[in-house]
Parts: sequence; C-alpha cells; structure tokens
Amino acid sequence: MTVTGYGTADPQTPLAPVQFERPDVRAGEVAIEVTHCGVCHSDVHQCHDDWGNTVWPCVPGHEVVGRVTSVGDGVTAFAEGDIVGVGCMVNSCQTCEPCKAGEEQYCTGPRGATLTYNGPTKPDGTNTYGGYSTDIVCREEFVLRIPDAIDPAEAAPILCAGVTTYAPLRQHKVGKDTRMAVAGVGGLGHMAIQIAKAMGAHVTALTTSPGKTDDIKALGADEVIVMSDIPALGKAQASFELILSTIPYAHDVEAYLNLVAHDGVLHFVGNFIPTTVAFMPMLFQRRTMTGSLIGGVEQTQEVLDFCAEHGIRPEIKTIAMDEINEAFRRVIDEDIRFRHVIDMDTLRKAEPSGATKLDAPVRGLPEDGGNAPEAAKS
Ligand SMILES: [Zn+2]
Ligand SMILES: [Zn+2]
Repeated sequence: MTVTGYGTADPQTPLAPVQFERPDVRAGEVAIEVTHCGVCHSDVHQCHDDWGNTVWPCVPGHEVVGRVTSVGDGVTAFAEGDIVGVGCMVNSCQTCEPCKAGEEQYCTGPRGATLTYNGPTKPDGTNTYGGYSTDIVCREEFVLRIPDAIDPAEAAPILCAGVTTYAPLRQHKVGKDTRMAVAGVGGLGHMAIQIAKAMGAHVTALTTSPGKTDDIKALGADEVIVMSDIPALGKAQASFELILSTIPYAHDVEAYLNLVAHDGVLHFVGNFIPTTVAFMPMLFQRRTMTGSLIGGVEQTQEVLDFCAEHGIRPEIKTIAMDEINEAFRRVIDEDIRFRHVIDMDTLRKAEPSGATKLDAPVRGLPEDGGNAPEAAKS
C-alpha cells in the first residue's frame, strides 16, 4: 500500500511530506491506520543524527496508536476496528533468552530487535519507517491493546515514556513505602512519579527547576528537592533505596549518587554521555549504578493496563502533522513536561501534494547486522 508520512533525508533538512510503499499485510501481521503518534526526544535525536547511526531517509515515530484495518492469516488476537498500539519495536528473533523472557529490547539474535523506525527489517534489511505516517503494518506479537479507559491520544506516550519508567520500577520491586526519588521531571519523570506513587512508594522528586515545585506536587510527589538547595541535599544524603534518573543530558552524577542509601541503586533511563564517573561514593556505601532500555512487549501491555486501572495519564499537547518541526524545536529548546502527540488525521486530510517518493528497499542489511548489540555481531 502507498503510505504518506513525514520524514527527512539528512540531519539539516526539516521534516517534510514523503510517500512510500509498505508491504500489504501478510500472515501473522496487523495493518493499522495510525490515528495518533507521540513525539519522543529520540525522534529528534535520530532525525538530527545525534547518535551517528541514522539510516536515511528517516521517518520517525514509535509511540503509535491507531485502528486495525485488516489482519493477515492466522491472526486471532486482533480484528478490524480494534484500537491498538505499536511501541519501539516491530520484530525480534523471538527465540533468544531475552526474547523468551519477554524482554525483546535486549534481543541477542543475529540482528537484535527490529526498531519501529531506523531498524533493518528482516529478512531483506530494508529500513523501517515509523509512525509519522498514515498507516503501519506490524507483526501481531508486537501489537498492544489500548484499554477502553484510555484516550488514544493519551495512550501514545505510554508506549515509550511509560514503559521506560515502568520497567525499572518493576525490576527494583518498588512497592508500598519504598523510599525512592525520581531525578528529572520531564516527559519520562512525570510518568515515573505517577506510576511509583500508584505502586505505593514514597516519592521525592529531584529537580533543578524551583518553579516546577507546585506542578510536581500536583503529580503526586510526596516531596520535592531542588538540587541547588544545599541544606535539603544535606538532609537527604544516603536516604533513597532507589533513584530513577530520567535526566537526558550530562550532569553531576555524584550529587545524585550521594543521595542513594547503603546498598541502594541509581538507575539511569536517560541517554547521555557522562562527563565524570563517580566511583568513590559507589564504593563507600556499596551503591549500584545501572540502567535500562525501554521495556518488553509484555511490560508495555502491563503499563497500559496499569495506567488504565490507576487513572494515570501523560500530559499531552495535540498538534497537527505540519507543526512537527516547531514541536522538535520546543523539545530541544524548552524544558517541557508534556508530550506532543500528532493527530494523524491532520496528515490524512491534508493529502500533501509534492510529497517526496521514497524508494523501497532503501538499504541492504549491513554486514555487521545493523542495529544488533555488540555481543551478537560476528
Ligand atoms: Zn521514545
Ligand atoms: Zn531475540
């Protein structure tokens, strides 16, 4: 099928209308008419080639929500008309240990997980194009059910920002009265605070923005510490069993590590290049520093259901498709907490003329296995 989307062919050019072919739905696949797509900070990084691994052209979007239009042979879990989601992955080997454990994001198969965009598709290695498009086709194992209680636009950010924070909270068994902190209150942090509170934790927010205190309390945080408040930091030394850090830029890690209790954990989900590594405080209180990447399919469904059950919602701002470049600028320039969500009907109705036609396939599978993790390359 011919699909209209928004993409770019290099890091300097703003996103613009494109047209490309998606394969018609095959056995085991689900075709989805995209109604909403969240704008993740990763979309901006990938389009600007900040990680140096972008495959061009790039059509981003991995917080995809839409309506099933058809299903391939053998699909029983979904039917035409269902409201569904697609998160950060559309395929994986499904046989390695992480895949069998429901953690497909850590797939150690020959080509790793196939990311929703910028990931080589198996078996021919064509580049994947994401949810900034009118339609998407996905293997049924990677399709999520959107609970009736959640508005489709609000469901979108849960597929990446939600599961990225939910997975480590489950990993560290956060529960009643866990004394924990969330560092950084942006798109990820504002979800983390709400989810951790619903799990029963005592949650302190660590922020560098004094002006955000009231808003953070409104999200349910029990306490807020501004990182420039030296007496407050002094009192909080070695007090948190867990700090979930969502800070996406280089910062003084030691200031946060010192707040972690004996045998506690500082867990990173923000992607940044540290300027220093703070070993000393780690040794002195046997603290652990660790990190994680998004979450598996099973936990993505879990966090959708969890948010439905507990009334947790991301704060969103709905935009039209042609406002995307402005939204990218805001994501970079402004310290925003809400998530932009594209109303994809605005693209469908616009029927942009002069869309650039993208060829498919656009790439061969690189010899090193594309986006496979280091260990799986051979
Ligand atoms: Zn994301
Ligand atoms: Zn695997």
